[in-house]
Amino acid sequence: LFLFLVILMADSNSFEDQECDYLFKAVMIGDSAVGKSNLLSRFAKDEFRLDSKPTIGVEFAYKNIKVGDKLIKAQIWDTAGQERFRAITGSYYRGALGALLVYDITRRVTFENIKKWLHELREYGNSCMAIVLVGNKSDLTHSREVNEEDGKALAELEDLYFMETSAMENINVEDAFLQLIRKIYETTIQKNL
Ligand code: GDP
Repeated sequence: LFLFLVILMADSNSFEDQECDYLFKAVMIGDSAVGKSNLLSRFAKDEFRLDSKPTIGVEFAYKNIKVGDKLIKAQIWDTAGQERFRAITGSYYRGALGALLVYDITRRVTFENIKKWLHELREYGNSCMAIVLVGNKSDLTHSREVNEEDGKALAELEDLYFMETSAMENINVEDAFLQLIRKIYETTIQKNL
């Protein structure tokens, strides 16, 4: 299991010729248009896409992160609009060590659907998966339909990390991903060493 979960990397594409110690796969999950791909592009490239075109086929981005003295390459998968067609399958979750579970604070239904996504994650995903619950679009305070307390309460109930973010204003985006990656590191690497 350990070998399956953690692949020792010798990659030289980024962090100029530095070798990575680990490769982690994590997935973005949640309803359509909650901001998953914008969160990911903000984190991976520090840019905000104003338009999004749902395309078929999974997309992913890489980012190198230092945790302690280890260099971790995070490979983060995005649904690329497939959640619209209920086409997220087992292969999307396979080997994933963590998930960023996203809802939109301005659309209550996307928060109510979190339970459904959790159910799916627990059915297809690894049992020790690290999960961060994210309430995105925190910049849209006037159209808020989900209080921060509701997000916190659900996270406590389901034993998840929680954070509100704004991909548009770049608030807490990096923190949410870093928390996820640190949590993956703690639950998989440290426990197995
Ligand atoms: P996805 O379908 O979950 O990947 O969602 P997208 O990333 O494509 O975003 C859906 C829409 O929400 C787009 O029109 C984005 O411009 C917008 N959006 C995403 N994040 C934010 C945010 O933090 N604040 C605001 N105001 N709009 C956002």
